[in-house]
Amino acid sequence: MRRVCALCGRETDILIEGLCPDCYRKTHPLVRVKRDFVGIVRCPSCGAVLYRGRWVKDNKVIEKLILESLDYLGKVSSTSIESLELRYGLTTAIVRVRGTVHDLIKEYEEEAPVKVRYSEELCPRCRDMVNEKERAIVQVRSVVPINDHLRRLVIDITRKEAMRVKRGVVF
Ligand SMILES: [Zn+2]
Ligand SMILES: [Zn+2]
Repeated sequence: MRRVCALCGRETDILIEGLCPDCYRKTHPLVRVKRDFVGIVRCPSCGAVLYRGRWVKDNKVIEKLILESLDYLGKVSSTSIESLELRYGLTTAIVRVRGTVHDLIKEYEEEAPVKVRYSEELCPRCRDMVNEKERAIVQVRSVVPINDHLRRLVIDITRKEAMRVKRGVVF
């Protein structure tokens, strides 16, 4: 028996809740983006990525962060991130999702644009290394013959630098 879609008026063999498969798909997305944007913070020195408050040295974490921003409203068989360019600021990653939103509809692909906000920040380990280096530089400089005035000056500068580092102003 031929039936008619309530939305587009076409005759259809398969009618789902009054709609042809095309119109059903259009009104029932397979994937929904939950967040306004996904924040990705990467250490420029070692490549670690901040994931749930921890720094993880695994590039799959970026994929994980992006995929976790999606809600699936049907049966999904595979996902892939089509385009992702990590540059400072806001970019858009395209996620291709394969699956179906209804048993009567064959699997198809849907694309979800996910906004990504990328930034770089030294992870604690690399930050410690930078601090070590700064300490080393101070030591080398103190090798020159030093009088009381110089010594006070060096201590003063070192203290100020240490405080700046603590507040995260340096780097
Ligand atoms: Zn229709
Ligand atoms: Zn690092």
